[in-house]
Amino acid sequence: MQSPIYLDYNASTPVDPRVLEAMAPYFSDAFGNPSSIDHQHGARAAEAVENARTVIAETIAVRPEEIIFTSGATESDNLALIGVMEANEDRGDHLITCRTEHPAVLETATYLKKRGKQVTLLDVDRTGRVDPEAVQKAITPKTVLISIMAANNEIGTLAPIAEIGRIAHERGIYFHTDATQAVGRTEMDAQKLRIDLMSFSSHKVYGPKGVGALYVRRRQPFVRLTPLIHGGGHERGLRSGTMNTSGIVGFGKALQICKQERKSEQRRLTQLGNTLVQQLLGKIPGAELNGHPTERLRHCINLFLPGVENKALIVALKDKLSFSAGSACATSKVEPSHVLLSLGYPEERSYNSIRISIGRFTTEEDVARASEELVLAVQGLRANFTRA
Ligand SMILES: *Cc1c(COP(=O)(O)O)cnc(C)c1O
Repeated sequence: MQSPIYLDYNASTPVDPRVLEAMAPYFSDAFGNPSSIDHQHGARAAEAVENARTVIAETIAVRPEEIIFTSGATESDNLALIGVMEANEDRGDHLITCRTEHPAVLETATYLKKRGKQVTLLDVDRTGRVDPEAVQKAITPKTVLISIMAANNEIGTLAPIAEIGRIAHERGIYFHTDATQAVGRTEMDAQKLRIDLMSFSSHKVYGPKGVGALYVRRRQPFVRLTPLIHGGGHERGLRSGTMNTSGIVGFGKALQICKQERKSEQRRLTQLGNTLVQQLLGKIPGAELNGHPTERLRHCINLFLPGVENKALIVALKDKLSFSAGSACATSKVEPSHVLLSLGYPEERSYNSIRISIGRFTTEEDVARASEELVLAVQGLRANFTRA
């Protein structure tokens, strides 16, 4: 039997074969500890890590020493929020973020609140956008950090990052962005966008799971932060523990490929994504796109299908298509999507919405088949529902 067509690239991406090939030597010949640079084994691993760091830094227009390797974007978000709030208690205790953030940010903000920090959770509009004016208004003399995601993982809405960066910069407040869905897909230039800290992850850009990075600005301003993990003082003391050499090499290769292919790939995915949206909206009565009509990642399609329970649709199509009922993290719980609720929709809409995200290995044929299968399955479920 053919395996289902994968339509969940926002949850995770397959490792590109070129990435796997680049990683292979670091499991065998070049297995040395990159911190043991007194001998050739260690030195070879250290060189590979530093090469990857340079490539990764270049993709977001920062310097290599501003990149801290972590286990993924969840850890990067934790390190950014907790690390900055803890290290800057002399500056204040106030954090500004928003309701549609990934749980890695939202739950960390909740934790900080329990530890006595002040947290402002900004609302978003119907399209999922934060108003820069609202960010401006939320700032107090005690505000230390603003954290707003670059692109939403459930609906793909792009935030006005440049404007928020400018506001933060003018007020002398640190600006962190969870750019896990944006890096490798759109241009993320930390200088132009005036970003001070940025979280991103390897497994969302065709690299291996379990490795990510936090960019921390070291000049104008130098961002102070405390570590979460203490030990041998790796990564400038901000993230102790033996480095994941093969993972980091894979992450570097993965972003290098994304950078080389970004423009043509973005065009291709925009076209495929737009085709899919047109077909689904055209053939499924009542269907609506959740999120922003234009200011969004075009490969991410979040659709409201009135009268169709998303879990039932996923089960009906499980041998043919792999897609999501929202975010990956919410699917084990039967809870409405916090993102769709934040857009001001009733709970019902969340149970009737699906997320389809396409990527590098999605073909035109896949899109045609996916839309055909979805249309048929929706018709089937609606017919059953009417009969019952
Ligand atoms: C996937 C994702 C994360 C979590 O990344 P991990 O590397 O899996 O920890 C955080 N934020 C966003 C926006 C994501 O899409």
